[in-house]
Amino acid sequence: MVKVLLRFHGGLMNEPITSTVILEKGVKLNILKASIHEKGGEMLVEIPDVFAENVIEAFKSKGVEIVIKRTISVDLDRCIHCGECLSLCPVDVIKMSGDYSIIFDEDKCVACGLCVDACPMRAISLVVF
Ligand code: SF4
Ligand code: SF4
Repeated sequence: MVKVLLRFHGGLMNEPITSTVILEKGVKLNILKASIHEKGGEMLVEIPDVFAENVIEAFKSKGVEIVIKRTISVDLDRCIHCGECLSLCPVDVIKMSGDYSIIFDEDKCVACGLCVDACPMRAISLVVF
């Protein structure tokens, strides 16, 4: 699944764009979050991998802005909390908690990749959000 943020700007709100794309492409979109009103809004959707390119192009052709966010995914089963990644992060995604375990605030990640390369356990990977 590919997670994509769809941004609908003002002039698009009178058209049934999402349902049109769903019917045209025969795809099932999983809507994870939506904030839409008459002046515009955003919708976070999951698109099955095989449909992603087609569906994204369909939304773009109808004037919808597409944001594909990259972030990290951490395999906590592999992490040994060594802290190698912690000091490298330029935007404070990675912190040490009171019990000396490493915690991640993935929403802040700018996908620079520094922590991915630094991790001796290969516990971190970059993913499309
Ligand atoms: S990829 Fe970069 S911004 Fe994201 S957590 Fe790692 S070091 Fe921080
Ligand atoms: S470098 Fe890897 S193993 Fe070490 S704390 Fe970070 S994620 Fe965990």
